[in-house]
Amino acid sequence: MPGFEIFGAEERKQVNEVLETGVLMRYGFDGMRNNHWKAKEFETAFAKRMGTEYSQLVSSGTAALTVALASAGIGAGDEVIMPTFTFVASFESILALGAVPILVDIDDTLTLDPKAVEAAITSKTKCVMPVHMCGSMADLDALKAICEKYNLILLEDACQAPGGTYKGKPLGSYGHLGCFSFDYVKTITCGEGGAIITNNAEFAKHADHYQDHGHDHVGKDRGAESHPFMGYNYRISELNAAVGLAQLGKLDGILRTQKENYTILREALETVDGVTFRTVPEGGEENYSFLNFFLPTEELAKKAHKALSENGVDACFYWYTNNWHYINGWEHLRNLKSLGNLPSEVKNQMQDLNNTDFSKSDAVMGRTISSLIKIGWSEKQVRDRAEAMKNAIASVL
Ligand SMILES: *Cc1c(COP(=O)(O)O)cnc(C)c1O
Repeated sequence: MPGFEIFGAEERKQVNEVLETGVLMRYGFDGMRNNHWKAKEFETAFAKRMGTEYSQLVSSGTAALTVALASAGIGAGDEVIMPTFTFVASFESILALGAVPILVDIDDTLTLDPKAVEAAITSKTKCVMPVHMCGSMADLDALKAICEKYNLILLEDACQAPGGTYKGKPLGSYGHLGCFSFDYVKTITCGEGGAIITNNAEFAKHADHYQDHGHDHVGKDRGAESHPFMGYNYRISELNAAVGLAQLGKLDGILRTQKENYTILREALETVDGVTFRTVPEGGEENYSFLNFFLPTEELAKKAHKALSENGVDACFYWYTNNWHYINGWEHLRNLKSLGNLPSEVKNQMQDLNNTDFSKSDAVMGRTISSLIKIGWSEKQVRDRAEAMKNAIASVL
């Protein structure tokens, strides 16, 4: 998955153009900047690649989620439905706005179970946030139908699946808003950075203002700009944007290599009786950043994961207990450990996460192993890995 594997001359050239002027900010300083507008250029190119009208860069994927929620008017006491399997940024961004994360089960897509989503809707629900984990997507048609029925915002977290598609559309472009991360280990990287995409002109304008202290960006004098509403600072720097601009040019090559490597591993594991694969919703195509598969039971998955590592197969994840992408690892959230006082809406409306039944998620996550797909592997390395994975897993079955 990681674009950092192919950081090179293209990125250096883009960064050097910024360093030559020393204008590290994305706005203003028109006379000094020798016409480099890396952030703006990246936004235009990213919107085009993702097939949306608008794109807004920000300082991280977490910032993208926060700004996207804010842009849609989500605030204190509004409930946002999110999955039990995701990165912690999901609940961090919701809580940052005083909104309330409502956690619901995943299914064998490893993303939101539409039935669980519908069951969790209350009069306070404002948004459904599917997270396209590990390169593949939620059942977006089913979620969209629910959002239309209850008049909710559909916000796609596509941080782990840029370049994947659903019914011909890039992931992130299907809902009202889509979010991406360009942190150092994502498919393409800026060092730190993120983006929001949307076709909604009002949300785009809100995002533009909100991520820069509410500045309306009208005219050429920042000091004289007006501020229609309060914002915050989630800006990206021109240096980070320059890296991302070069990386975006490499995205389609990254996706091609990922697919080739994924296919070799998958074909090998398909020959192992007892191994099954994550469900990809009809009409979807993964971005191939991970190969996700199931063992028949939790016990066998634990054994297989151990056997993989003992046989020298690196970069295989058992999220259920070994990692902090599943609710099992979120002791701080379950016990609402925060530095300061939390909004009363959050305290009153949050589920008691220590006693909520997530056995449906457990039944899936307990059996899931994910192999990262690297792009720097030689063909021999992938074939050796495929053989080693096949043998290690077969040895426990
Ligand atoms: C990485 C990631 C984020 C947050 O991105 P940062 O840029 O690290 O803040 C959000 N959601 C998911 C699913 C991620 O993988």
